[in-house]
Amino acid sequence: MNNQLYGKLIFELSHPGRKGYSLPDNGVEHYELPAHLRRDSDAQLPECDELTVVRHYTNLSANNFGVDNGFYPLGSCTMKYNPTINEETAAMPGFAQLHPLQPDETCQGALEVYYRLQQSLAALTGLSEFTLNPFAGAHGELTGLMIIRSYHIERGDDKRVKVIVPDTAHGTNPASAAVCGLEVVEVKSRADGSVDVDDLKGLLDDGVAAMMMTNPNTLGMFERDIPEIARLVHECGGLMYYDGANLNPMLGACRPGDMGFDVMHINLHKTFSTPHGGGGPGSGPVGVRAGLEHLLPSPRVVDDGGTYRIERDDNVIHVGAFLGNFSVIVRAYTYILSLGKENIRMVGPLATLNANYIKESLKDVYLLPIEGLCKHEFVFDGLVDKSTGVTTMDVAKRLLDYGYHAPTIYFPLLFHESLMIEPTESESLDTIDGFIATMRRIAEEAATDPEMVKSAPHTTPIGRVDDVLAARQPVLTYRQLVQ
Ligand SMILES: *Cc1c(COP(=O)(O)O)cnc(C)c1O
Repeated sequence: MNNQLYGKLIFELSHPGRKGYSLPDNGVEHYELPAHLRRDSDAQLPECDELTVVRHYTNLSANNFGVDNGFYPLGSCTMKYNPTINEETAAMPGFAQLHPLQPDETCQGALEVYYRLQQSLAALTGLSEFTLNPFAGAHGELTGLMIIRSYHIERGDDKRVKVIVPDTAHGTNPASAAVCGLEVVEVKSRADGSVDVDDLKGLLDDGVAAMMMTNPNTLGMFERDIPEIARLVHECGGLMYYDGANLNPMLGACRPGDMGFDVMHINLHKTFSTPHGGGGPGSGPVGVRAGLEHLLPSPRVVDDGGTYRIERDDNVIHVGAFLGNFSVIVRAYTYILSLGKENIRMVGPLATLNANYIKESLKDVYLLPIEGLCKHEFVFDGLVDKSTGVTTMDVAKRLLDYGYHAPTIYFPLLFHESLMIEPTESESLDTIDGFIATMRRIAEEAATDPEMVKSAPHTTPIGRVDDVLAARQPVLTYRQLVQ
């Protein structure tokens, strides 16, 4: 796009005195705010005509990149397609216009959706019961750890304060443990990213409250020693926590409940569609095995012989005043129903097939530090040919020129040039082949014209930004910029 509005801030389009409205004098007397409530000087706001404002924001919205624009292979974040039917159901007035305080008998349908999703998640994970109250994955972790702490305290075992977390864990794991007032103990990983069982043995004692695990682990590999790890942790009296933020490869293949996990969370906004990113909206339901149901947070939705009721209990934990992010719950339930029992079994195998197909098609030009079958995602350690000086950052920036969102970069920290790719099950073979061809082309460009790759992106409204400067000295308002 090329016009005089493009690429400008709304402040740069401002002209003193210009207005977005013209109202006839309707003869109503002006009301002046009392002096003590008024500003000393006028607010410094941009002054524009209405059409300029509309064009400005429409242009800005067109600069957004989402799954609906193109391929978004962001590892660890599962940017899968959010089917349009999810939006239609979430927008139904009976769901969209609910009030959290309306009487149970006036929102039976909504409560039934909530209850049925709890049941579906229990069936998919092999656990006994779920709460849908937490607002995000990290919030689910905190809720799960609060349940675990309640479990130990209820048994009079109050010295259990340690939470064992693998060194490759998602940053939210140790953070949640710390917020819960527990002590984080790190267990080492083997070279393939799996938990080092020998190191774990040395950490187990009667101070352990829980062990948190992500499976497949951060490198996308299945943790093969789970049965032994679960036995060891249970023997010392601790509980097993499953970080199921990305349950994608597991859907229809295996269930955390069957592997010996006691408590887990799922990110509805990753595994069960829902557009997300930039902080929301999310939902991080928490499930528990049989025997722990009474520790789930209040409020809860219960089935009272075909009538659904919201039950409140002041003796258990609370993690939110009401029943969570309801529109995300409706989307997830719609997604599960529209796939059905048969097709939901295909999610895991297809997500796994897509990831392995990309990995095998690129590993001659991108360095694959860990060979073997991956699950829904995998990590490259930059380009095979390091002599060009082209880094993972450069490859990620060059992908923008070709209309792709960049993969996750420089995470996990296990490698210097991590490039983490997760295609999800929703992409077609054509899209994936197009991405592979582009990644190969960039590898070629790195060899023939490294400077061009290093100065990418060349086609985006804003070129390469100085990330370090932006983080250290963020300029957050226009006024700061012009000073
Ligand atoms: C995304 C993610 C989380 C955190 O989920 P949020 O909804 O962002 O709080 C936790 N663990 C893993 C493995 C994740 O991928």
